[in-house]
Amino acid sequence: MNFNIRGNERNYETDYDVIIIGAGAAGYSAAIYAKRSGLNVAILEREAVGGGNTAVSPLVENYLGFKAIEGADLAREFEKHAREYAKIITEIEARSIEKTSDGFKIKTNREDFTSRYIIITTGTTHRKIGVPGENEYYGKGVSYCSTCDGYLFKDKRVAVIGGGNSGAISAIYLNGIASDTRIISHSDRYKCEDAYVETIKEKNIPFILNAETTEIIGDGKKVTGLKYTDKKTGKENEIEVDGIFVYVGIVPQTEFLKGSGVKMDDRGFIIVDDKMRTSVPGIYAAGDVVKGSEEQIATAVGDGCRAAITMYTDNMHK
Ligand code: FAD
Repeated sequence: MNFNIRGNERNYETDYDVIIIGAGAAGYSAAIYAKRSGLNVAILEREAVGGGNTAVSPLVENYLGFKAIEGADLAREFEKHAREYAKIITEIEARSIEKTSDGFKIKTNREDFTSRYIIITTGTTHRKIGVPGENEYYGKGVSYCSTCDGYLFKDKRVAVIGGGNSGAISAIYLNGIASDTRIISHSDRYKCEDAYVETIKEKNIPFILNAETTEIIGDGKKVTGLKYTDKKTGKENEIEVDGIFVYVGIVPQTEFLKGSGVKMDDRGFIIVDDKMRTSVPGIYAAGDVVKGSEEQIATAVGDGCRAAITMYTDNMHK
């Protein structure tokens, strides 16, 4: 096995039986099951701290065992649990995967890693709206993470763009911080769960439907408002806000798989069979990165478990 020492930083090996790429709910779960099968397991995580999207969920409701828990707290529990079983190596971004004679080589932003099997659990990131002002005012009023940036808008006016579950959860969270919160949705109906609609109504958070955001406006230094078109009437509207939180969908984090042979759909989600096998023998995938995922923490945990068990039965029980 190779052994690396990075200055004063922690030591880690670069060769494992199983490498899991992505320390989110799916990756943590896969790691626990893979290790319990007697395999040597590492998780590679791009960020300094793992937890993925669970860690930025303002409030997770009804994950089994917890009626309601802050996402950051749940992610911490996941991480603590997984650390008992696997080496979690942070600030390592997988850049490509190559087949070798006895497994795979993973090229990263640092050293190369090798493993016999890989489980991909890289999840998704936010989609942009793609309107003028969005890039210009990113970090100057435009945000994609209410738990990270919400506190900056204490007693200020915010709009959440996107009326799905993530947008709804974020609006409910921001309503406790900002002086004025509203949801702008291009859809003609509520796309979040009924339970969220009820809370939004109880809290009198305006939910503007049929509203196509067309521009984010500012004074050159910070956001001052946004423009949207009412899709029913064609009327153009402008509202004044200090902050804009964008939740208009997700894109899979699979750029690094180009050239790996792993089949993906036209949006980049990984295609797996009902046992989480990808098109490349020895590579499995789980969680939100998989085509058709329900995009829930519970399903990511279940998928991760299934991927690890399949990996074991495919290769060790032949
Ligand atoms: P992720 O959690 O996205 O983890 C993927 C990890 O992979 C990340 O840590 C990422 O940094 C890492 N990674 C990506 N690319 C690389 C690479 N190339 N190399 C190394 N590491 C990489 N679900 C619920 O069930 N209940 C809720 O209440 C809920 N609320 C939500 C609220 C918000 C605002 C959001 C955004 C999501 C919410 N979700 C909720 C959805 C839930 O968070 C996801 O379904 C779940 O986190 C998916 O887990 P995952 O492990 O598949 O991916």
